[in-house]
Amino acid sequence: MAGREREHDKRGRSKPQMRSLESNWRKVKTYVAWQHMKSRCFRRSDPAFKDYGGRGITVCRRWLKFKNFFFDMGLPPTCTHSLDRIDNDGSYSKKNCRWATPLQQSRNSRSAMKTHCINGHEYTPANTYRKPTGARNCRICLRANDLRRQPRKKAWIDGRWVYGT
Ligand SMILES: [Zn+2]
Repeated sequence: MAGREREHDKRGRSKPQMRSLESNWRKVKTYVAWQHMKSRCFRRSDPAFKDYGGRGITVCRRWLKFKNFFFDMGLPPTCTHSLDRIDNDGSYSKKNCRWATPLQQSRNSRSAMKTHCINGHEYTPANTYRKPTGARNCRICLRANDLRRQPRKKAWIDGRWVYGT
């Protein structure tokens, strides 16, 4: 390898130094993820508690010890991965968790977590329309859109008939 220049980043760190930094980062991230997970489930003062502990989401007994959590989950593949529950109504356990990229997360848990549509209508079973792709639509909004497209139709919105003009 003689004559081959070593690559450095802007701060003059060599590749191996950057790698170990990245690895340290992922270790810190794992620990922080574990702390935040417990906080969301157990600390009532946590802003996210209502969506976790308040909904009955908990942490399996085994994972109350960081050692076990780390043994089961290992390091996230990259810094951008974060802890994600596969079943959004399930608790934190080895079976229900994975490291996911922000994109995977938004596809799964975040959209599934929403209880109201963009216009504030609740996703009750009666008001939820599932597209073949699995995505949810609000029936009230669908009817309102329908009404806008065909102005002379009437639509049942928020408990009353609305007529197009
Ligand atoms: Zn809606």
